[in-house]
Amino acid sequence: MMKVTGKTKFLGVIGDPVEHSLSPTMQNCALAKLNLDYVYLPLPVKAEGLEKALAGFEAIGLVGFNVTIPHKQNIMPLLNKISAIAQMVGAVNTVWRTDNGWEGTNTDIAGFIAPLQGLKRWQGSTPVILGHGGAARAVVVGCSELGCGDIQVVGRNEEKLLQFYKSWQDTPLQNKVKVHPWRNLSRLLPQADLLVNTTPVGMYPHVDNSPVDRELMTKVKQSAIAYDLIYNPRPTQFLQIAQQQGLQIIDGTEMLVEQGASALEIWVKQSAPVETMREALLAALKR
Ligand code: NAP
Repeated sequence: MMKVTGKTKFLGVIGDPVEHSLSPTMQNCALAKLNLDYVYLPLPVKAEGLEKALAGFEAIGLVGFNVTIPHKQNIMPLLNKISAIAQMVGAVNTVWRTDNGWEGTNTDIAGFIAPLQGLKRWQGSTPVILGHGGAARAVVVGCSELGCGDIQVVGRNEEKLLQFYKSWQDTPLQNKVKVHPWRNLSRLLPQADLLVNTTPVGMYPHVDNSPVDRELMTKVKQSAIAYDLIYNPRPTQFLQIAQQQGLQIIDGTEMLVEQGASALEIWVKQSAPVETMREALLAALKR
């Protein structure tokens, strides 16, 4: 049972909307487990109120916060320092207060990587990434951090795909990111060591949809890993098809838990109780 006292410190998540965020449940369970006098709040902030909100957070001594849609990019010019990794992704999801002002990073990369560590030798391996939105950017940087070789990104809109490709020019990943129209997917699948769905296809309530159908999935090696960023339902149709094909599967809950654990560790400077966070998240998803 959480006890709020006169000395309780504040953390939170800003977004619009934030009512559906699972982070307060997950983070407050973790704070209670660590026996820390903190509370993590949902903080609804409209786009036009972002600068004022930051000034208010400064005034009340908020320790740090997560950032969700629509502020992940817009917050960047308002911060004093941004990690190189967040700059490469072009989005910040975690902010903390320092003596020199607000600093930001992106823990989605660590979240994405965590369940992949130690599963195989990633050096030089080939990831095939479906979709090129915000989450795909963190996945691209995560694949590079793992040591993967060329990162193959597949999209349905060729204009957006080209924009995505151009966005990596003048970054250390400029020669690694390759883009392909969706019609070339069947040619790419046999090369995949890791197949990641970053599209919302198959997300609740459209649970019977999959970005890769059964026939196409037969082209993927059995030694490959299928990873879906979606955490509702678990597993998605995409992961069910992959599993029936003999592939190892990973769902989006691990990334969600681990990005939260990384953020908590930045704020409270101690190891996060990952198992407690996972249990809290899974219980919340069942509700
Ligand atoms: P986003 O910025 O809107 O990007 C979605 C991408 O999917 C775009 O490239 C979009 O292409 C593509 N797409 C959408 N519908 C498609 C379809 N029917 N066929 C092919 N491509 C399609 O969204 P996001 O923020 O990256 O999030 C994507 C998913 O990841 C969501 O399901 C989200 O819940 C999940 N996610 C999970 C975590 C986690 O921690 N587990 C973290 C972040 C995101 P167009 O531009 O052509 O529409």
